[in-house]
Amino acid sequence: MPVYEYRCNSCHRKVSLYHPKFSSDAPGCPHCGGELKRIFSTFAMHKTYKDVYDDILSDQNLTEGMMRNDPRALIEWNKRMTGGEEPPPDYEEITERMERGEWPVEQIEQKRRDVMDLPEPLKKGED
Ligand SMILES: [Zn+2]
Repeated sequence: MPVYEYRCNSCHRKVSLYHPKFSSDAPGCPHCGGELKRIFSTFAMHKTYKDVYDDILSDQNLTEGMMRNDPRALIEWNKRMTGGEEPPPDYEEITERMERGEWPVEQIEQKRRDVMDLPEPLKKGED
């Protein structure tokens, strides 16, 4: 079920509402009944590593590839972890080693532990 975020024009509270189906009519503010304005959250564009990791775990082809120690699966994993952006130096090193046909298992395992141990990200946009 999609969650939409709104900002109340009257009390300026941020409101998250579940919508069973798309409606162009914004509901009233649950706090003061004021008019709500839809916020286009940037959240979806700023996935955390944890989100990406969950996404990878839900991709059976990719996880099976990793189980088979398929370097291509690892490169794909690496790509997803970095979200297509310039990878941090340690990711770059892992990718380079895999492209040379090496299997930097220890680095990958370390990276996985880093990812799983990440604290919850600070909430943004609570202004
Ligand atoms: Zn309100």
